[in-house]
Amino acid sequence: MRFTTVIEVVIIIALIAMLYVFLQEPDEDVFYSSPGSTQAPAQSIDTPVPLIEENARWGKTTLSIFIDLEISQDVPGFRGEFIDIFRDAADTLSNSIQNKITFRFVSQPSAADIHVRWVEQLRADSLDAIGHTELNFSVSPSFSVISKAEVELLAKKEGGALSREQMFVLSMHEIGHALGLGHSESKDSIMYPEAQESLTKPSPMDVESILEAYGLESLPDLYVKEAQFSKRIINRVVFKQYLYDGKISVINDGLSDSGLFLISIEADGNIIDEEAKKLRPGESIILTLQNVTTDSDFSEIIINVDKENDVRELNEDNRYRAEVG
Ligand SMILES: [Zn+2]
Repeated sequence: MRFTTVIEVVIIIALIAMLYVFLQEPDEDVFYSSPGSTQAPAQSIDTPVPLIEENARWGKTTLSIFIDLEISQDVPGFRGEFIDIFRDAADTLSNSIQNKITFRFVSQPSAADIHVRWVEQLRADSLDAIGHTELNFSVSPSFSVISKAEVELLAKKEGGALSREQMFVLSMHEIGHALGLGHSESKDSIMYPEAQESLTKPSPMDVESILEAYGLESLPDLYVKEAQFSKRIINRVVFKQYLYDGKISVINDGLSDSGLFLISIEADGNIIDEEAKKLRPGESIILTLQNVTTDSDFSEIIINVDKENDVRELNEDNRYRAEVG
């Protein structure tokens, strides 16, 4: 191959790679674009607040918040009262939903669910003009379980200080994002893209949207996603033996950690294998069985996940039949 041809091939590969990256779905931390002038005029009709991602929510209802004072206090424009305003906003939100979700302020960042800090400048892809909330998810077929939220708030806006009222509404808005809410088109909503200074509490539709999103109890849901078994027959001198190989995939498609649970594999009424496992939301495991030997021939294997129902689940149906191919 000529040298120039090699360069051409490299360039073509690079272009294909760039096109491929360009065509991929956006990352989960890319949110709706910020409100532009093309947006329809605000409606006062209350419509449900959409979620940032389909079925996005936390898998618990007590959330710990860490406010990073060390970083915040050096930010130009930061005022000590912001902390109380933020706490007030969290309390107001919690009270408006009959404390279905509560917030606990903690002094250690390591275990906190929501990290909050005031900054001088927001990141380039920030969701809002004066704030930004970044979410991490554990994604399963049924849910996007929020595992961490990082809230950044501007200490002052372009051209001046932020009023108490603005900081209060901004705080409720970003906590709304931290709970998984997207933007609302209703001006009465705390999730309206622009901070409405006059708001003192979430709108009835905000409340309904949060209660709806958090309607399901925070439980795991374990089940067999897939199972494949194959059989070989070995002819001994006077009898036959059957060798089974299998691959079982079990998932936690629920909202919270499973804790320890048993997976038992039965053939012909006998347990041929039993294993204790733990799965976080969205996590799955694959069990591999090799050369399980029996003297009897069977064509069906039953897999029970948490047969005794020791674990409370969203769906307690735990029996799976696998045909032996
Ligand atoms: Zn927003």
